[in-house]
Amino acid sequence: MSKVVFAECRTYSPAEVLAATQRIFEALDVDHLFRRTEKVLIKPNFLLPSGDETAVTTHSQVLLALCRLLLDLGCRVAIGESPGIGTLAACIARKGLGEPLKKMGVSVVEFTRPEPVPLPEGRAVKSVPVAAELRDFDAVISAAKLKTHCQFYFTGSVKNLYGCLPGMLKPEYHLRFVETERFNRFLLDVHDAVKPRLGFMDAVVGMEGEGPSSRGRAKPAGFLSASTDCAALDIEAMKAVSLSPTLAPYLQERLGRPAAEVINLGKIEKVVFEPPAKMESVLSTIPLPAGLRKVLKRLVVPVPVFSVPPVCKLCGNCQKICPAQPKAAVIEKGRVRFNRNYCINCFCCFEMCPHKAIKLSQPFLMRHWRRLKVPSL
Ligand code: SF4
Ligand code: SF4
Repeated sequence: MSKVVFAECRTYSPAEVLAATQRIFEALDVDHLFRRTEKVLIKPNFLLPSGDETAVTTHSQVLLALCRLLLDLGCRVAIGESPGIGTLAACIARKGLGEPLKKMGVSVVEFTRPEPVPLPEGRAVKSVPVAAELRDFDAVISAAKLKTHCQFYFTGSVKNLYGCLPGMLKPEYHLRFVETERFNRFLLDVHDAVKPRLGFMDAVVGMEGEGPSSRGRAKPAGFLSASTDCAALDIEAMKAVSLSPTLAPYLQERLGRPAAEVINLGKIEKVVFEPPAKMESVLSTIPLPAGLRKVLKRLVVPVPVFSVPPVCKLCGNCQKICPAQPKAAVIEKGRVRFNRNYCINCFCCFEMCPHKAIKLSQPFLMRHWRRLKVPSL
């Protein structure tokens, strides 16, 4: 049976984070999970260059604690990522992690080249183009940040691995799997291609509301957690913050198997995170004829609404990240022009706008969503 271990951790003080991580390692017998001299890659959630205070990315102290303990086990350690926006170097610099990592001898690996990993049993694809750089490592740890997600309801240690697709492959696959259901199956394929040996969740402070980026709100949850079973980790972490795992489509498959054993170290108080105001994940789990789904989608799925300057700084991130062909968001004549007909509702622009210049429209059914009762846990 899988185990999910939670450790109370109220602050990001280096000593508290290290002690909580150490307790989790002991409970999961991590000494025996990684062998001396193994090369271990830690995959954080570095969605974009962002400071620790925003709760958008995995906290520096969590990463440093993981590095410290893995180094103590005799492993060789690296941090690897392909951010949605910006470079890994910019993410590391923004967090002030350059020097501490250098002193510890931890290398930094930006994912640049794809290499197909055959996946004969894949749900959406039979081969996944994950970063070739992963081949240089014996083991991967998905070091996630607990956040709500306006498209997938939740992002944790499974969804975090989507960043193992290098560069523009991420928006490309959003385009390839416009249907949320197929994209969710693809997320599981990415997870299986990467085969993380450990999932780790930074939930000392997580994110609620319209995550996973600037529209969400930072909220303390007061714990770190981990498991060798990433989907089980995400499910139990969601329960701990009162989010319903039944609303995260990519976790449905795991929900159909026996639940993990949960071990609490210290006081893990159940907190209530506000879910994203969106119901496409529910819609996508209901078997409906394609035509009816399309009509309902119009009623329930928001579209991005772009502010004009000066709120919009015309940085061009939305145009750059937009995976639609032709692009649904382009800068023209001093403002962002949006074409709804091209939009595939991936919300990459919304996630990546660094100036909060994009809102999501409130379609009719969505306005009433908050009155509907989310299944209790
Ligand atoms: S990403 Fe945001 S600030 Fe930048 S151009 Fe687009 S809407 Fe404007
Ligand atoms: S406009 Fe925004 S939501 Fe629409 S396809 Fe482009 S990035 Fe996705």
